[in-house]
Amino acid sequence: MEINVAKRTGFCSGVQLAYNQVKNSIVDRNKIYIYGELVHNKKVIEELNRAGAITITELDDIPDDSINETVIIRAHGISKSEKDFLKKRFSKVIDMTCPIVTNLVKYVKGKQKDGFFVIVYGKPDHPEILGLKGNVDESKLLITLSPVKIPQRKILIVSQTTMGEEEYKNFIAGMVNINSFTEVLIRDTICSETVLREKETLELSKKSTLMLVIGGKNSSNTQKLYRISKKYCKRAYHIESDEELKEIVISPQDKIGIVTGSSTPKSELNKVLEYLRQKKEDLS
Ligand code: SF4
Repeated sequence: MEINVAKRTGFCSGVQLAYNQVKNSIVDRNKIYIYGELVHNKKVIEELNRAGAITITELDDIPDDSINETVIIRAHGISKSEKDFLKKRFSKVIDMTCPIVTNLVKYVKGKQKDGFFVIVYGKPDHPEILGLKGNVDESKLLITLSPVKIPQRKILIVSQTTMGEEEYKNFIAGMVNINSFTEVLIRDTICSETVLREKETLELSKKSTLMLVIGGKNSSNTQKLYRISKKYCKRAYHIESDEELKEIVISPQDKIGIVTGSSTPKSELNKVLEYLRQKKEDLS
């Protein structure tokens, strides 16, 4: 049995920063509020809840006595109006929006001021996109997943930071083909960590007989890694934890590739590796 683990595993840099901030804040204050799920991973949320974090998903959920408390904004970011509301209801707001997402917002804002109409290749209901929308001029913005004909002529095309590289290129080609722009600015705003994880997944899937994609079932980036794995490796499995491994048939001849989503902690990966080491011993 051969086991190959992707080089990039565990939290991505943006999630790691937000996670560290939550942990440190709990040590300082015993209790901390987080606006929105910090990561799409049940186990991490449960661990943080046990330590003293309280996740609020709606502004209506903010308790009446919050004025002496601290709230943390997760890596996806939020709209300006939501942030303003949090500032009124909490004594301290710690904004842990990922710097890559913040840069995208700043860039879009600046180009709108320069007269560009902005096309965003992204999912209209994704938290990052809702945050972007709520920080820029909505009248000069269109969010779409498929190319559309528009009347504007001077445009900027950007992407949600977690979209696929190939799909973004196809989208750009489609937009340019069906429109008559006089000025088009194209910016690669996809997060490089996402791109590198996808490339590694593709390479590992091609040389593996069994692929394990570890991450929350509701994590869209983990789902994307699973789709890539499934395309090149018939026996690809999306698992949340080592407990699901008992259901998977593993043979001594297997070449196992392992990748994780950007919201999967290293501890989950280590448990999977421990299980596989034991299995290897049992099968030898
Ligand atoms: S995936 Fe990239 S953009 Fe998104 S939080 Fe992680 S580092 Fe930031």
